[in-house]
Amino acid sequence: MIRPNIFAGDELDRVGGERKDPAWVAAQFKAGDTRVLPLWRNANFVVQPVSDSAEGGGDQAPTLLLLDVATARKLAPDADMILLGVTRQGETRFALDISHLAAPLDDIGIAEAKTGDLRDLASVLPHAESAMLAQARALTQWHASHKFCAKCGSQTESREGGHVRVCLNADCATSHFPRTDPAVIMLVTNGDRCLLAHRAGNAQPMYSTLAGFVEPAESLEEAVAREVLEEVGLRVHDVRYQSSQPWPFPAQLMLGFRAETKDESFRLQEDEISDARWFTRDELRRVLAAEETGEPVLFDGAEVRMARSISIARRLVVEWIDEG
Ligand SMILES: [Zn+2]
Repeated sequence: MIRPNIFAGDELDRVGGERKDPAWVAAQFKAGDTRVLPLWRNANFVVQPVSDSAEGGGDQAPTLLLLDVATARKLAPDADMILLGVTRQGETRFALDISHLAAPLDDIGIAEAKTGDLRDLASVLPHAESAMLAQARALTQWHASHKFCAKCGSQTESREGGHVRVCLNADCATSHFPRTDPAVIMLVTNGDRCLLAHRAGNAQPMYSTLAGFVEPAESLEEAVAREVLEEVGLRVHDVRYQSSQPWPFPAQLMLGFRAETKDESFRLQEDEISDARWFTRDELRRVLAAEETGEPVLFDGAEVRMARSISIARRLVVEWIDEG
């Protein structure tokens, strides 16, 4: 089995059978060890212990903010609880969108509670907890944007613990399921060099792999070849799957590939890509080493930094570096 990327590796049992039973779902609200993860306008909540010593402040790792059902219900009496699953210890976890609150930390009333963006929290939380928050974020975003039926425009209602929304128009009654949008992300290689690109509009000097959404009626291999041709004008062959990463910002599944090309010269799709370069493994090792020192690494006068450590883009590059 391929090692999971960040945001994969959720250890919850998603109880796909049980959640179809409204009585089973209702019983989970009464269980004393059921806990609820609140989300507010896409921010997650953690508890950041405050250190007693001034010097050691902020070093302690945050933990997830877990509310009991009664407390969570008070924050959002009308909102649907979204069933995430059951822990190995048999405790049920729900997510709850409390975006309607103006000052959620005041209402929660726990001094050490803080909000954070999942992309930042992922580098300090355990893998399985980041994955659970990713599921919570993906589902709450889907619910927030699917309150009406895409087929007839009537209101929809959450069912099966929030894993389906059903149209309330009896003549339609369409079931809508949470969506995941596949996107390919690929490291293009040419012998002992790989191509990394700087995306137009990114203020950071970050050079990363190419990526793009899979189009309707397109295979993953075709999407890889099309995106590479569109963005840098290279024709690839030998497209090989590597690993995948849920990316709930808002609903992507990043499917990671390696693709080899015989072409050396490329042309940029300038509205998408502002620069691209071929890099050797040693050049990229220098970029990685400079992360420790903070010294900028320049190529033809342009600073080059690697994609963030939680991303599959980074993993695709690092795995390639480690092969040579
Ligand atoms: Zn409908």
